[in-house]
Amino acid sequence: MSLDTEARKNDGDRTTDEGHFVDTSPAVSDEVKYTTCYMCACRCGIKVHLKNGAVRYIEGNPNHPVNRGVLCAKGSAGIMTQYSPARLRKPLLRVGERGSGSFKEIEWEEALKTATLWLSRIRNEDPKKLAFFTGRDQSQALTGWWASQFGTPNYAAHGGFCSVNMAAGGLYSIGGSFWEFGEPDWDRTRYLLMFGVAEDHDSNPIKLGLSKVKANGAKFVSVNPVRTGYSAIADEWIGLTPGSDALFVLALVHELLKAGKVDVDYLIRYSNLPWLVIEAPGTAEDGLFARGEDGQPLIWDRAAQRQRPAVETGIKPALKGRFTLDDGRTALPAFQIMAARYLAADYSPDSVAPRVGISAARIRRIAAELAQVAFEQEIVIDQPWTDWKGERHEKMIGRPVSMHAMRGISAHSNGFHTCRAIHLLQALLGAVDCPGGFRYKPPFPRPAPPGPKPAGKEGQVAPNTPMAGPPLGFPTAPEDLLVDDAGQPLRIDKAFSWENPLSNHGLMHMAVTNAWKGDPYPIDTLFMFMANMAWNSAMNTGDTIRMLTDKDPDSGDYKIPRIIYADAYYSEMVPYADLILPDTTYLERWDCISMLDRPICSAEGPADSIRQPVIEPDRDVRAFQTVLLDLGARLGLPGMTDEDGSPKYPGGYPDYIVNHERQPGVGSLMGWRGADGQSSGKGAVNPKQLEAYIANQCFWQEELRPEQSYYKHANAAYLNYAAERGFIPNASPIVFQLYSEVLQRFRLAAKGHGAQQPPEIHRERVERYFDPLPFWYATFEDADNDETRFPLHAITQRPMAMYHSWGSMNAWLRQIHGSNRIYIHRGTAEAQGIADDDWVWVSSRHGKIKAQARLMEGVNPGTVWTWNAIGKRRGAWNLASDAPEATKGFLLNHLIDELLPERESGYRYACADPVTGQAAWYDLRVRIDKAAPEEAGLSEPQFPVLKHPKGLARAPKKLRYGAKFHSKTGDGKASDGKGGGS
Ligand code: SF4
Repeated sequence: MSLDTEARKNDGDRTTDEGHFVDTSPAVSDEVKYTTCYMCACRCGIKVHLKNGAVRYIEGNPNHPVNRGVLCAKGSAGIMTQYSPARLRKPLLRVGERGSGSFKEIEWEEALKTATLWLSRIRNEDPKKLAFFTGRDQSQALTGWWASQFGTPNYAAHGGFCSVNMAAGGLYSIGGSFWEFGEPDWDRTRYLLMFGVAEDHDSNPIKLGLSKVKANGAKFVSVNPVRTGYSAIADEWIGLTPGSDALFVLALVHELLKAGKVDVDYLIRYSNLPWLVIEAPGTAEDGLFARGEDGQPLIWDRAAQRQRPAVETGIKPALKGRFTLDDGRTALPAFQIMAARYLAADYSPDSVAPRVGISAARIRRIAAELAQVAFEQEIVIDQPWTDWKGERHEKMIGRPVSMHAMRGISAHSNGFHTCRAIHLLQALLGAVDCPGGFRYKPPFPRPAPPGPKPAGKEGQVAPNTPMAGPPLGFPTAPEDLLVDDAGQPLRIDKAFSWENPLSNHGLMHMAVTNAWKGDPYPIDTLFMFMANMAWNSAMNTGDTIRMLTDKDPDSGDYKIPRIIYADAYYSEMVPYADLILPDTTYLERWDCISMLDRPICSAEGPADSIRQPVIEPDRDVRAFQTVLLDLGARLGLPGMTDEDGSPKYPGGYPDYIVNHERQPGVGSLMGWRGADGQSSGKGAVNPKQLEAYIANQCFWQEELRPEQSYYKHANAAYLNYAAERGFIPNASPIVFQLYSEVLQRFRLAAKGHGAQQPPEIHRERVERYFDPLPFWYATFEDADNDETRFPLHAITQRPMAMYHSWGSMNAWLRQIHGSNRIYIHRGTAEAQGIADDDWVWVSSRHGKIKAQARLMEGVNPGTVWTWNAIGKRRGAWNLASDAPEATKGFLLNHLIDELLPERESGYRYACADPVTGQAAWYDLRVRIDKAAPEEAGLSEPQFPVLKHPKGLARAPKKLRYGAKFHSKTGDGKASDGKGGGS
């Protein structure tokens, strides 16, 4: 629990009954600054206590909308990230072979001139030869815009290897999704069904929410092959088989449909299930919605026995039947197609149970519980509201079943349809944006899918020319793809091509492989930020390292000619770059957590926030965003230069945050806009905006009015507000696209219709996976797998105390997770004679690793798992070469091939979802074999020790943080006056 410093001062002094004075809460700092945590992507508000200019203590900000004062272990350990010996100190230029770690330190001017020279040549000749990929940063509104201004379509952030299935599945279905897009109605829900949620994602809000769920006596069911973290406190844990989630969800749908426990009125009001679908097999319109001359979808009015536009009022839509339209075509309601599919025996609990790994009776019980809570524990709030048709409702009716899902279901090659299946289930129960259900967070909902389309078509990429739009977007038809006349990809990661048409976040995991192969074309420079692609961010890590160092035998040049890399720490990627731009820590920088990017809103209203520097860098480092703007100005990018060629944002990132306008009146931050700082949302630039944020503890928020709180997809008061704020283009309702016409358009192209069709080798794949209704199919690894050879699934989990690889440079956090184990179900292990602490070989179709085993009960018996990204390469992160992270720690990445095995056509697809290109990390199948006694003791594979880079001081054997804060006088002052940051 957080305590306010002032409060502590007031009541901290105590005298015991015996008269001894006890200072229970001594002052720890001489200054407190507010900013935003960045020890994970959750973005909690923090108060940083400084003493003599050094960070003394970090506490949660009790007023902050994200965490309400809660601070997790990672957040408080930010001190050790600030003072980590792994921090880079100065720009570096490679002087030895790539991978040797031989660098010379250079001045920033030389670094920026070098980068400008490399990049300007590309921009003058062919901008797409720059591939710009960023990791888990939070400035994608800037980096994506920078790529557009540069003119390259080859840009993406980490979403493609994280959870794009979750985002795309939701955005194409209900115009929103989970995490930044939406959240359970924590206060009112009576039943929470959570799927595959990592403990480090949205960490504090989920913990706060779960505490409410438990305190309210609601039921919390966690679906996850592993019972750790949130699953450990669930009322019921469903340890299902990885990759089978959609079977489970659609079996629930089967049961609800069979029992008639679906909210028909809700579906009629808010979904496209009443819309009529044309039945004309073999034609170019089969499976599309029947539309009137004005383009409006049609429904069949049961009362009038005729077709009518869906937008009209007073209709009683037919949900079943087959109807002849005025023009003679045949059509049937999407509801009927949906019901027929899921009522089929394929989705009955008895059919799916063996594959899901739980009993049919249990699936039936969960379905009955969902129905009972949704329909018999209805919530009624006396709050009138008006829908988009102008119809007034006296009350808000809630179905208090909520759901939340993340990467566990997303990171499979069947993840997109699984995510859509969950949204279908929510909608059938009438539980989307209602009291007790799932709630959108502004700026969502948005039209499903939202605009814009990705830029980067032929003709849109030209020397010295910005692209006409953003490199990432939302295709809605084959014409939106980035392919040439032969249907070949135009992007280096093959995003938005026929391989993965809806790859809204790109395919970062394919950037290195494709650049190395020159497929679809060679690039010149790979520019990356915060992306540890030579280690835990890469599939097939060993080969990725080889690709980064491989040379053309004829020219002797690297196959990826230049690599620029920005990072704050000496990660495994640093030695494989040619030019290093050292970044600051999160406590040394300005940032904005913007509505243009991934904001911190809650269901109660929009919010955004900033980071301010709370401490000066003690190294020659610069914030990456400021460097990017500087490079943009040196390159003469139009958005970053004034008419006279001078930098538009000479003050760097804070200058941009305040003064950049994406559209007139729309900038990075929504608070305190307008010349006088009195406007919210839209408004002129306010030169004092950052000061206003700082005065408000670095965040801004706006509360929705009670009548705007629910049914945001159809609520006139909310839709008008959202349109006025610029969240949505206009106040039209957001209709749930449960039957997806977008997917059907791609399927029709694969069937030979339309001007833009897939090349022959992709036709069958597109036709199969672009199903307008969610469906389950075996993951590609499962489908290819010989069960006897690789009988186990293998997945990673993220611990609460470590965010990906962000904790191994942190002296406190690495004491919690200094090494990892391969966790095996006790029964499975014992059947193979494996005991706790034994060393085992874990093999996949792609590779083999050695790790130490730990047995447990709380895991699906057919699944093994480990903590993500704990294993480190020797020499990286300024750890000792015998650090446990390297000698006992390991990665599953070595077992995962970034490509699927060759198909009949000879083609090798990415190991990814065929719809979105989401990296299918969790499809992995393995075998476990006990290692011989003489093989015990060292994890494998091991790589040569990375050389210690120039300028990085050797880490001390013992970190003595805090020693300098110790006061001999009891006055709380550091005795040496230098603070504790050494
Ligand atoms: S949940 Fe993430 S952002 Fe919040 S305090 Fe913990 S590490 Fe920081």
